[in-house]
Amino acid sequence: MASTPGTDTAPAIELRGISKAFGPVQANKGIDLVVPRGTIHGIIGENGAGKSTLMSILYGFYRPDAGEILIGGKPTAITDSQTAIRSGIGMVFQHFKLVQNFTVLENVILGAEDGGLLRPSLSRARGELKRLASEYELQVDPDALVEELSVGHQQRVEILKALYRQADILILDEPTGVLTPAEADHLFRILRGLRDEGKTIILITHKLREIMEITDNVSVMRRGEMVASVKTRETNPTQLAELMVGRKVLLRVDKAPAQPGAPILSVRGLRMVDTAGVERLRGIDLDIHAGEILGIAGVSGNGQTQLLEILGGYPEKGARLEGTVTLNGQPLPLTGSDARARRQAGVGHVPEDRQVEGLIMDFAAWENVAFGYHDAPEFQNGLLMDNAAIRADAAGKMQRFDVRPPNPELAAKNFSGGNQQKIVVAREVERNPDLLLIGQPTRGVDIGAIEFIHKRIVELRDAGKAVLLVSVELDEITALSDRIAVMFDGRIMGERLPDQATVADLGCLMAGVDPATTAPEDAITPATAPGLDEGVR
Ligand code: ADP
Ligand code: MG
Repeated sequence: MASTPGTDTAPAIELRGISKAFGPVQANKGIDLVVPRGTIHGIIGENGAGKSTLMSILYGFYRPDAGEILIGGKPTAITDSQTAIRSGIGMVFQHFKLVQNFTVLENVILGAEDGGLLRPSLSRARGELKRLASEYELQVDPDALVEELSVGHQQRVEILKALYRQADILILDEPTGVLTPAEADHLFRILRGLRDEGKTIILITHKLREIMEITDNVSVMRRGEMVASVKTRETNPTQLAELMVGRKVLLRVDKAPAQPGAPILSVRGLRMVDTAGVERLRGIDLDIHAGEILGIAGVSGNGQTQLLEILGGYPEKGARLEGTVTLNGQPLPLTGSDARARRQAGVGHVPEDRQVEGLIMDFAAWENVAFGYHDAPEFQNGLLMDNAAIRADAAGKMQRFDVRPPNPELAAKNFSGGNQQKIVVAREVERNPDLLLIGQPTRGVDIGAIEFIHKRIVELRDAGKAVLLVSVELDEITALSDRIAVMFDGRIMGERLPDQATVADLGCLMAGVDPATTAPEDAITPATAPGLDEGVR
């Protein structure tokens, strides 16, 4: 174990009055935090609350403007990550920092000889890695190239790397966003094991269910401030959600049973080979009826993005496409179309990445609200665009979608993530499309805005429209969908009705195993922890 001076009863970490500003943004305001040794401590907060900033300060990535850090009771100036590592802190980042074309072993020892350790021989390092891997159930081939590993295994390597450097305190920033439910369960087992042998874990997440399931204590951040620290068993998801948002929130989606009508969208045998020669879609068949939400679940990167792009009218240039797509019985061209033609045909699209595809960040909100629809007849005034009409229309939409601040003149970049998303959703939904394509509608969106966006999606469906929802959040899929299709490796692995689908069942499909067609002895059955099916939102 790393040397951690101070007393054994001192908290593993104590932060006092930590503040950090980025220009005008006060990302952390006088944060106090006590993390007792040998506990799993959750930190939750909406996007932008300041969680990653606080952890980056603890890991020496940023210097605080004010405040003090105590490690094991001893005031410690963490000036860079080497100091953090020497103080026994390891960090598993939201976006991994592994070298892709190095082996697992090379990645694990990379940089570890710094900090006064003797450069270990490769074989000793290999032995140590093996020991850690088997002790902590983190099996991974030391000679595999990182680029060949699944995301779940890359995360194992990140954890092994921290353990190899004798981390006593492990920080994980949103670790489950990239994992299947089974992989997340495995990670949680490992974290419990580490805790039980005395290590201290800080888990950052915005998923209330994970907090309730695995943490001992939880701290809530809101707008740069630490608003509460409580024992997990003395709180509940509703209370935590309220602390995060600062008001009461609805944790479930209220909706009547679907009344599906005629098919709106039909996709048959859709295949796509990208310009790198990789087959991204391997024969997709699906139908969505009027008045129905079809949810596509899956770990990201299994073809969902390509499906949305093709249906939205902008497949990757040069990709090879095959199959048929019809909208209201009319064939849609797979290529040679564009997003605007698709919109005119009645397809609305909220893209997965609103910052890149949904908005022009430097343009005013009113321009963004009209974006893609500005040649509509009601916005024309002779040969000119009627900017006054567009502005008035945008102001109305922003008001109805509760965009804050409701100022159409502000540039898109000046709104928070949740409000940016409301601008995109307002633009697409208010056009009343026959088919709404919506990707990751609530990624990076705060709970209050999630609630609002979900209601609008359900309203559209109740007005007899078809919705194709793609989300990596299983809770969101099960709460909203009338039918669930799971995508894996460019295929639809299986379809389920939300009230019959368990997390374990969907998780198997997400991992490429169909429990309905696999012999029991071959089936991967992820352990389902109590409470996992509660569908907390
Ligand atoms: P969280 O991890 O809780 O989502 P962050 O700590 O990433 O929140 O961000 C807190 C606030 O600080 C946000 O408003 C974010 O835009 C801002 N911020 C974070 N990092 C930087 C940076 N490097 N430069 C400018 N602003 C930043
Ligand atoms: Mg973050």
